[in-house]
Amino acid sequence: MEYRIHEFAVGDFKCVSISDGTQPIDAETLPTFFAGASAVELAGALRAHNMAPDHFDLQCSPLLIDTGDQRILIDSGGGSVFHSHLGKVIPGLAAAGYQPSDIDIIVLTHGHLDHICGGVDAEGALVFPRARQLMARGEWEYWTEETDARAMGDQFVEDVQFAQECLRAMESQVQLIEPGDEVAPGIHTIPTPGHTRDHISVTVTSGGERLLCVADTMDLPIHIEQTSWHPAWDEMPELALESRRMLLRRAVEEKALIHAFHFPFPGVGYVRADGDGWRFEPLK
Ligand SMILES: [Zn+2]
Repeated sequence: MEYRIHEFAVGDFKCVSISDGTQPIDAETLPTFFAGASAVELAGALRAHNMAPDHFDLQCSPLLIDTGDQRILIDSGGGSVFHSHLGKVIPGLAAAGYQPSDIDIIVLTHGHLDHICGGVDAEGALVFPRARQLMARGEWEYWTEETDARAMGDQFVEDVQFAQECLRAMESQVQLIEPGDEVAPGIHTIPTPGHTRDHISVTVTSGGERLLCVADTMDLPIHIEQTSWHPAWDEMPELALESRRMLLRRAVEEKALIHAFHFPFPGVGYVRADGDGWRFEPLK
């Protein structure tokens, strides 16, 4: 099976961005990634980013961090069960020299299907036999107990039920954490709520170098420049935008690399201050 991987280092840690595949986004859905933008503003931003006005392929890239002692995956992707275009994490891991049984920890940044379903196969069996899967307690409770799928809209009912099935199938591996908890030496979660109730991001520090895994606080480089535009499905948009701006400020102050799950592959680069705002500089 085809795969795409990109290896880079953060201090002594080996990192591998692994493409799970892409989801095609059509003309009807495209503007919903940019709530808050007028049609004219959006057309201008798409042109400036060499994006077509009517479609793009949404990348999905979990990140492997090998600290030497432990192998940690940030999100498991959509796997083979969520979307026919996804499911390439396992061949990507193999190309980087890892088996599913090598993974010690998976950090689930939030409960959306493209981030959690890689942990189970079509039969509901666990894909990563030794992994502990860390999820923020509030996020787990929201998806498994409290969410009212019908209140979110008819189009989400199936997705929510599917997420619940995935999480239940993985329950024996799930360890609930508080946003901010340590994952492993040098790796910490940070609370970045808003996209979902208890969405978390991850900081990676080694040898004086720093990486911020920003997950779904930003979906495309346009969201770094336009910090008031947001996906229409952010649950708490104002909070989501605050979380995004906090990460962007930190990325500049700490001269940190960022890894963004949905950015064009490999989703790794620097945030640069630009006038009153920011822009993305992909790692060459
Ligand atoms: Zn996502």
